[in-house]
Amino acid sequence: MSFVKQDKTCSMENKKKLLFPFIAPPNGGKGTQTHVLATQYGLPAFDMGATFRSILKDGSDVELKAELDSYMNKGRLVPIETVVKVFEKSFQKLVDANPGASGFILDGFPRNLEQAYALEAFCKRSGSQLSVAKAIYLNVGLDVVKRRAIGRRFCSDNPRHVYNIFIESLMPVSQSGNSKEPLSDSWLCPVDSAALVLREDDKVETVEKRLIEYQKETDPLIDYFRSNGMLLEVDGELSPEEITLKIMSCITPLLKVVTV
Ligand code: AMP
Repeated sequence: MSFVKQDKTCSMENKKKLLFPFIAPPNGGKGTQTHVLATQYGLPAFDMGATFRSILKDGSDVELKAELDSYMNKGRLVPIETVVKVFEKSFQKLVDANPGASGFILDGFPRNLEQAYALEAFCKRSGSQLSVAKAIYLNVGLDVVKRRAIGRRFCSDNPRHVYNIFIESLMPVSQSGNSKEPLSDSWLCPVDSAALVLREDDKVETVEKRLIEYQKETDPLIDYFRSNGMLLEVDGELSPEEITLKIMSCITPLLKVVTV
C-alpha cells in the first residue's frame, strides 16, 4: 500500500485522496468517531454495513439480498467475493460523486487481511490516486464492548432512544403499573414510558460469537497495518472527546500535506 507523499504540483482534480479505514470491535465507538471526523474535515464516509443494509432494503437484486441476509442475520462476515464486488462498485460511485474531496473515511472495510489486500489492489488500479493514509484502530477491551452490548436497550416506540441498563438507573416495567406481568429483565424508556427491548444482535450468545469472529479476523489486519507503519492505535476506552482529539492530531497534518 502506498504512503502519503507531498505533491505540491497536483491540481484539485488529480490530487491524491487519502483513505482512513476505521477498525473497532462491535460497539467500540466507531460510528461516533467516523461521524464527528467526517463532519469536521468534510470527508465523505463509506459504510460497508450500511451499504449492505440499503441493498437489503432495496431488494431488487434477489440473489444478492438472499446471500447478504443469510450472513448478516447470523452476525457472520459476508464472503470476500461479494464484499469486494459491492465495495468497488459503491465506493467508486462515492469517489466519482466527490471529485474535490481530500479523502474518505472507510467504516467497516477492510475487516480482515484478504479485504486489505483487495483494497491495496483497488488503490493501485486508481493509479495510486487513492491511498491508505492511516488505519485508525480503536482499542477497546472485549469485556467492555460485551458489557456495552448486552446492557443496551432500545425504546420500543423510538429506537433512537438507547440506554444501558448497567449505566442508567431505569424504572422496571413491573414497578410502573404499565405491565400486567412483572418482568425481571424489562425497563421503561424515561422519555416515552414504552418498554425497552433487547435486540437480537445484542443477545449474549450472538455478541460472544461476533466478538470471537472479530478477534480472529481483525488481529492479522491490525498486525498488517502496524507492520507497514500505517496504524494509529487509540485507547478506545477514553472519553469520546479525547479519542476525537487524538485522531485529529494525527490526521490533520496528513490532510494538510495533500492540500498544500
Ligand atoms: P456493521 O453495520 O458494520 O455492524 O455490519 C453489519 C453486518 O454486515 C456485519 O455483521 C456483516 O455481516 C456485514 N459486513 C459489514 N461489513 C463487512 C465486511 N467488510 N466484510 C464482511 N461482512 C461485512
